[in-house]
Order: sequence, then C-alpha cells, then structure tokens
Amino acid sequence: MKFRLGKYISPGGALWRIERLRVYRLLRKFLIGFIIILLLSGIYSIYFDTPKMARLRRRNADIERQYRILNDKILAAERTLDDMKHRDNRVYRPLLGIDTLDIAGVWNDYPEEKYASLEGDLYSDVMIDSWRRMDHLARRMYLASVSLDDTQELAENKELFSTVIPALWPIDRTKLKYVSDPYGWRMHPKRGAWIFHEGIDLAAPVGTPVYATGNAVVTESGTASGYGKVITLNHGFGYRSRYAHLSKQYVERGDSVTRGQVIGEVGATGIVTGPHLHYEVMYMDNTVNPINYFNKDITSEAYIDLMQQLNEKTVESY
Ligand SMILES: [Zn+2]
Repeated sequence: MKFRLGKYISPGGALWRIERLRVYRLLRKFLIGFIIILLLSGIYSIYFDTPKMARLRRRNADIERQYRILNDKILAAERTLDDMKHRDNRVYRPLLGIDTLDIAGVWNDYPEEKYASLEGDLYSDVMIDSWRRMDHLARRMYLASVSLDDTQELAENKELFSTVIPALWPIDRTKLKYVSDPYGWRMHPKRGAWIFHEGIDLAAPVGTPVYATGNAVVTESGTASGYGKVITLNHGFGYRSRYAHLSKQYVERGDSVTRGQVIGEVGATGIVTGPHLHYEVMYMDNTVNPINYFNKDITSEAYIDLMQQLNEKTVESY
C-alpha cells in the first residue's frame, strides 16, 4: 500500500504541490493588494493633493501673491507720478509761464513681439499686463525727469527767459480792428472744411507795424504758400513765433531781434479774405494758444474784452 501510494504520490511531489499552491496564494494576495492600493491612490488623488501637487500649488499661490504685490507697487508709483504731474502742470510750469511738456513719439506703441516671449504660460495675462504697466511707468518717469530738467533750467535763467518768451501783442492794439479768427478748430472760409487754426488772426490796416514779441533770432523771412510773406523767430527754450500775410519784412534770416522791435508790416499776402496778421506761438514744435502768452501788457479787463471779441467774431480770414 505504502508502495502503491508512493507510486502515485511521492512525498517529494506532494511537498512541491503545496509549495506551488502557497506561491500562487501569495502572488494572488500581492496582486489583489496592489490593485487595491492602485484604486485607493486613484480615488485619493481625485479628492486630495499628492505632496508634489501641493508643493506646486503653494508655489503658484506664491507667484500670484508676488504679482499682486508688484501691481500694488506699480499703482503706488503711478499715484505719486500723478501727483508730481499735477504740481508740474498746475504750479511750476504756469509759474514759469511754460506749456505742458509733450515729447513727440514718447507714447508710440511698442511692437507686440516685445511681450511675445511671455505668451502661452498659465500667468501670461498677469505677466504681460504687469510688464506693460511697468513700461508705461518708465515713459512717464522719463517725461517727468525731462520736465524737471526744463523747469530747473528755466528757474536758473528766469531773468533771461522773461525777456525771450513771446509775451507781447505783435501789433499796437489801438490799430487792432478785431480778432478775426481765434486759435482752434474752425470752418475754413475758403476751403469749406473743418481745419485747425494754428494761430490767431488780428485784423488791422495794411502797413501797421508788426513787433517781435520777445527777444529772438530770425529763422525764416521769406514767402510760403498760404502764409504769404512770413517771418519766424526762434526765442530759445523751445519757443518760436510766426508772423504771416505781411506786406513788408524788415529782418533777414540770422538777425537778432529784441522784444518790441518792428520786424515788418501787416499785409494781405498769401490766402486771405482781408488784411490781417496771422500770429502763431509754438512750443516744442507744437502750436499753442497765443492768447495765453499775452501776459506782459494785458489787464484782466482787456482779457475779458478779448475773449468776448473772440466769441462774437464776425469776419473770417486765413
Ligand atoms: Zn490765421
């Protein structure tokens, strides 16, 4: 019997089967355990952050906070600049009798490629926005510093400045018939379109003397289309003045003139509807309203009169 059994189930063979069974069970346990762990970690990651994710989220929150702080600082700097600009334009510049500073091209747009390297990022919008604001701030600071240089130079040369600024009436006001056209937008009498009038028109008889309104150097004394016989003076400090439609010119390019010196006579040359002086004041190559510069010899009553005349203008001319 022993022998028969031994023929089919050898003691060594049974042991091997049991071992194999044990290994299977163990493997099955491992497999089930592994699947359970996988499932659990899957469910966990849906509802909870992994440590790595949590770290990344903290970093992102940090970046967002830093950008918020940066934007707050930009805002604070903008407010300080607003305040400086206000004082500059409302106090210092009027005190020195100069116009608001405007530098051509300073506000030109930057090419879009400038910000292209920041595109396609989670924080592109906030980064590009911050960068644009900093660029804007840099331009404003540049303007403020140029303006400060201007006012400093003028304050140092106030004496000289007061003699060159175009502050006189360019003709004797007893000869002035009326201000036939003010500075600004108007319907052009000959062209039938809205055109910006770069100066003021002072109607007076042909031959009325025309005065230099401040010490200057003559940069132009000739004829130009539309303007007729015209004289342009450079007063320095960014100021120029122009006198058009003259009948006579007494100065030449390169001459130095002093305030009140007769430089020509009123005429009707160029495109006009009647004899008058077209008078322009330019600051930094932009025309400004000459009325604001007639501060040397105008009383407040005369100023009010003048403003009324400008509102009741009757004759139109170029
Ligand atoms: Zn004019």
